[in-house]
Amino acid sequence: METKFTQVCEEDDKYAIIVNGVSKSYRKIPALQDISLQIPKGEIFGFVGPDGAGKSTMLKIIAGVSSPDKGGCYVFGKDVEKEIESLRKDISFMPQGLGLILSDKLTVKQNIDFFSAIYDVDKELAEKRKKELLKVTKLYEFQDRIAGKLSGGMQQKLALCCTLIHHPRLLILDEPTTGVDPVSRRELWTIINELVINEGITVVIATSYLDEAERCHYLAMMHNGKVLRLGRPEELDKEGGKSITEIFIEDLADTQERHHISANLAKFREKSIRVGQDSSEAVVRVANLTKRFGKFTAVDGISFEIKSGEIFGFLGPNGAGKTTTIK
Ligand code: ADP
Ligand code: MG
Repeated sequence: METKFTQVCEEDDKYAIIVNGVSKSYRKIPALQDISLQIPKGEIFGFVGPDGAGKSTMLKIIAGVSSPDKGGCYVFGKDVEKEIESLRKDISFMPQGLGLILSDKLTVKQNIDFFSAIYDVDKELAEKRKKELLKVTKLYEFQDRIAGKLSGGMQQKLALCCTLIHHPRLLILDEPTTGVDPVSRRELWTIINELVINEGITVVIATSYLDEAERCHYLAMMHNGKVLRLGRPEELDKEGGKSITEIFIEDLADTQERHHISANLAKFREKSIRVGQDSSEAVVRVANLTKRFGKFTAVDGISFEIKSGEIFGFLGPNGAGKTTTIK
């Protein structure tokens, strides 16, 4: 049997979370390898890293929905594995996936009411809180819309309202901005910052967007189930003048993957050049394309051409008409 780390009996003043020697494998493949770190209270702590780094596994263990193979995790002085029941109202966890915790058949308002009921929030307080949250997230005008019909960004904002209705002390967000357009991404970050400032909530967030890393107060840069670097974003750059993205790419420089990626990229480039040279014929010609859903115009008279060998990009926020045009 593994020996558990020394019992922390009282809540630490400084740290909301203490992770101690946590390891976890899935069918003998390690997802987390002996992770130890402390997460300060009232700050935004980010786990950043590529897909498969172990971020979700780490967050699930902190949230008490998954158990480590070795080591353990304390939240507000309590062993999450053993005392999750008494921590339920303190922790809110938004798992990875757009609108995953929402019921797409319920309206915006009903989804929030559902979470107030689960957490047994006093009716009057819940109504007041709901109104505040709907205003902050700019969902107030949409409160009677079915959640299934919201854009990705709106779904994530609603999910955030649902996780916040009972005033948690710790908010755990697994890739809340993945698949969300840049405008909504910025909005989500503003809301998160305000929560930390106004309510003193501790936020633990996972992201694979390295540019978002700079928005966290503390960072754990993860790769292959290990923490490569840990600290405040400005402290991570020991040499000076480098962005988080540059540091990360350099850290991965010696790993096998990087070699594979560069080799594949070189092959791919060679191929694309060969393909691209051949023809300047249009393979797709779109003329004055319009698509309406009822009274709503999703695509409004657009025209363009795509030539053989071209990479043609559709850029725009959620609801701009990209997917409709592609379909
Ligand atoms: P991230 O969230 O950083 O993308 P994950 O924590 O999801 O990383 O995954 C870490 C590793 O664990 C990956 O190799 C992944 O394939 C593996 N893994 C995660 N969840 C499971 C699971 N339920 N069963 C098997 N392997 C898993
Ligand atoms: Mg993940």
